[in-house]
Amino acid sequence: MIDGKHSVLRLDSVSRVFGDVAAVNGVSLQIRAGEFFGIIGPSGCGKSTLLKMMAGIDSPTTGEIDYQEKPIVVSKLRFPEIVLVWQSLALFPHMNVAKNVEFGLRVRGVTVNDRKARVAAALSMVGLEDFRERRIDELSGGEQQRVALARALILRPRVLLLDEPFGSLDPHRRGELQVALTKLHRETGITFVMVTHDQSEALTLASRIAVMNAGHFDQIGTPEAILASPTTAFVARFVGNKNVYAGVIENIVNNTYTVRTRVGVFLAVARPETPLQLAQGSKVVYIIPADQIVEGAIHVNATKGMFLGRVMLGSSQIIRLAVADDCILSYERCRNGHGTNGPTPEMSDRTVSWPDTAAYLLAG
Ligand code: ATP
Repeated sequence: MIDGKHSVLRLDSVSRVFGDVAAVNGVSLQIRAGEFFGIIGPSGCGKSTLLKMMAGIDSPTTGEIDYQEKPIVVSKLRFPEIVLVWQSLALFPHMNVAKNVEFGLRVRGVTVNDRKARVAAALSMVGLEDFRERRIDELSGGEQQRVALARALILRPRVLLLDEPFGSLDPHRRGELQVALTKLHRETGITFVMVTHDQSEALTLASRIAVMNAGHFDQIGTPEAILASPTTAFVARFVGNKNVYAGVIENIVNNTYTVRTRVGVFLAVARPETPLQLAQGSKVVYIIPADQIVEGAIHVNATKGMFLGRVMLGSSQIIRLAVADDCILSYERCRNGHGTNGPTPEMSDRTVSWPDTAAYLLAG
């Protein structure tokens, strides 16, 4: 059993099976009071199913979920402190903003005066004071997301479960709502659990993250730890900016592994997280962080690539090369076009390299 003393939510070996699909498969987790916890993973990996079980809307097939050491069970008297903001928002389009926001209080029999004061407070928390009378279908997607948040906040939750809170918002609106959510989290001390398939969103906002893969957690940790040291090839690929290639160990000399991959034969020096059981012939995954690759044959590991394209990111850019016919290698370069080895003509094929201390191995 997990020690639940310091956790507000505690999941112990939770599974949820639909027919022959294990949507959630043996998940254990503790979420601390006041934390901003992110759950990320690709579409269909079980994130929403997990969130519904935390909200007491669905039950695990096996395993337990506790809120402050009391079991969460599906019933009409669910914990009122745990509030789920649905991915679909589930707003009432025919009602105005104020009516939508106060709905939960009406159902609970709160008096008109109390309702008025709490609607005003909730709308001010999400910056929608001037929208009380607007109909839902007269609002932008971002404003509707804020109404859904206000409708949850008015219930004074201790735990706010957010299913894809940024939905299909454009980048500008996403940014605005991210700021609003961060402020809310800081000002209210509410525990946030946010589900998203967008890793950059979670890596920016959450203080801890679980990376979900086909119903189970591959890794739980801080964004920094997950970015710097993914523990599985899936996590390395999912959190991005990593080049991940399957390979076999050809040789080990002292601390240095020689690995044959589809892209070439490369070296990697052992790091603390390198699996201990690796031997000659072991299948591995060879990972090169995109920010460790430079243009030119400067380091011990080098490969040639055909220029495929680039993505601008503020002052830097990600260059994508085709290597070994059908593999892609990405690396970062500052925007003025100068690699460490001087300027490279745009669009041209090129050699890139990286040190053996920058690459690392995971079990394949
Ligand atoms: P998305 O990011 O697309 O919302 P998700 O990670 O939230 O996906 P879930 O909605 O939890 O994924 O679904 C996980 C798996 O469980 C999927 O294969 C889905 O088809 C299946 N599933 C979910 N709910 C049910 C249900 N009520 N009946 C049958 N299968 C279901």
